[in-house]
Amino acid sequence: MNVLVVGGAGYIGSHCVRQLLAAGHNPVVLDNLVFGHRAALSPAIRLYEANLGDEAAVGKILKDEKIEVVMHFAAFAYVGESVSDPLKYYFNNVVATLHLLRAMLAAGVKKFIFSSTCATYGIPREMPIVESSPQAPINPYGQSKLDVENALKSLAHAHGLSFATFRYFNAAGAAEDGTIGEAHDPETHLIPLAIDAATGRRPALQIFGTDYPTPDGTCLRDYVHVDDLSRAHIAVFPKLETPGAALFYNLGTGRPTSVLEVIQAVEKVSGRKVPYTTAPRRAGDPPALYADSSKAVRELGWTVRFPGINEIVATAWAWHAARPAGYR
Ligand code: UDP
Repeated sequence: MNVLVVGGAGYIGSHCVRQLLAAGHNPVVLDNLVFGHRAALSPAIRLYEANLGDEAAVGKILKDEKIEVVMHFAAFAYVGESVSDPLKYYFNNVVATLHLLRAMLAAGVKKFIFSSTCATYGIPREMPIVESSPQAPINPYGQSKLDVENALKSLAHAHGLSFATFRYFNAAGAAEDGTIGEAHDPETHLIPLAIDAATGRRPALQIFGTDYPTPDGTCLRDYVHVDDLSRAHIAVFPKLETPGAALFYNLGTGRPTSVLEVIQAVEKVSGRKVPYTTAPRRAGDPPALYADSSKAVRELGWTVRFPGINEIVATAWAWHAARPAGYR
């Protein structure tokens, strides 16, 4: 398939580009390189440096490249910033995505794969989370993703757009060969910060909250390998052949892992101590989030190749060891 990967130079997008190549597809990338990295892409990949909200530019790419399916990874994803600067999130994550979708419909491209998030569930009442769990985001980031999910439903109904929305849990890890991986600036995610604390590149890790109602008092999350996430995006292709298909899938391993367990995994994999201090809870952090992904397993034949936190952290460690400064 000819695939336009929007945000393909970012963390999850760049891993998906490699998976697409490995599966024999033809990816081209649209990325404005605000957060993406050219070096995350093979030199053979065509990169269009443009904004996803630029309908004229997108329309031309869709036609020139004979695009059949669009994958959309590009979004702002800092929860705290979304609370302090919501317009930035609504304009980039919602308004720009609507422009992208309008350009697609104008060009007759009607297959779409969207990166959504477990943040659309807010603070769930029941765990593990299933796709039919109520969605009640507690921050503008999660709301912006839910707004797009709702727009997609309307477009499927009105125009026969077929789409799949993947609600990611905690994307983690790096390509197994250590050539690409996670490189955010600023970095706020637990695993890269714990690795940098272990190597001394950053100060001691702060654990945000040790008084949660969880077995060890720290938050539980569902860490899922970025290549496992990526492969689901390709496994869904046959389902998009049905016009108007409106598909929603959780992607997680289903294993809750605490902050302290992540620290232990980094220590085990690296053979170093992770210095840490305890800090107050971070605003907007639910105590526990983990997925029931059996729908993706059942309907897409999705398999998790990295079920355990040690294996996931090992790939992240290999990447950070090989490229301590990321792509710089
Ligand atoms: N966390 C932490 N210290 C940090 C960064 C994260 O204790 O410096 C915790 C955070 O409170 C959450 C978990 O680690 O419980 C995962 O956070 P991350 O930001 O990686 O992902 P999120 O779950 O927010 O998407």
